[in-house]
Amino acid sequence: MEPLLLSKREKRRLAGQYADLCLTCGTCAGGCPVTGVAGLDVRKVVRLALLGMDQEVIDSKWPWVCTLCGRCEHACPMNIDLLALIRSARGMRDREKVPGVLHKGVAMCLKTGNNVGIPKEDFLFLLEDMGAELAEELPGFEVPVDKKGAKYLFTINSKEPFGEPEDMMFWWRILYAAKESWTTTSENWEGVNWGLFTGDDASMKEVVGRIVKNYKELGCEYLVLPE
Ligand code: SF4
Ligand code: SF4
Repeated sequence: MEPLLLSKREKRRLAGQYADLCLTCGTCAGGCPVTGVAGLDVRKVVRLALLGMDQEVIDSKWPWVCTLCGRCEHACPMNIDLLALIRSARGMRDREKVPGVLHKGVAMCLKTGNNVGIPKEDFLFLLEDMGAELAEELPGFEVPVDKKGAKYLFTINSKEPFGEPEDMMFWWRILYAAKESWTTTSENWEGVNWGLFTGDDASMKEVVGRIVKNYKELGCEYLVLPE
């Protein structure tokens, strides 16, 4: 049987980054901040993939314990692209078996435009209400939404409107003080792309595409992803 993880991964390989050059030196595992958590040893992941034991890796907790920090890959003397290998394993797990709320968040974002499903009218009401509150301190302040020709387009981490709305005021104050032209959008404003973390390239691309569409339609110069 052809090893799935490596065959998928080989398409991304750069010259000299072949996993079959692994020396089993353990430098990767030695520098990994989560070595030992749930038995993770990134060297073992490479060996299993080389042996075609993809399913063992996909079904394990290891790809999800990994923080994708990249230290192992940076340290590897053979330049093996370990991040692509681990992320491929995440992407190949059944979506219903993705740990925690990550995939639910991806599905919610595709459906509603944000990871936690805040309705558009609630979101706009919150921005207006908080903008009015800040205007008591900063005369004339209001939250610009869907403002064409704004210089900066800001996405928003949904945890802010969901649970920590005051945090948005920090960067609103900075933009006010800097007299910058900016906006956010009424739809597809989510700035946290959980498809990245779940190895779900198709969903990740869709979410990015919606933001880029907003950016182009509004004619902004810069896109800001505060996350
Ligand atoms: S650092 Fe590279 S060569 Fe060494 S065990 Fe890890 S993957 Fe293999
Ligand atoms: S990317 Fe993952 S496996 Fe590599 S060092 Fe970071 S946590 Fe460890």
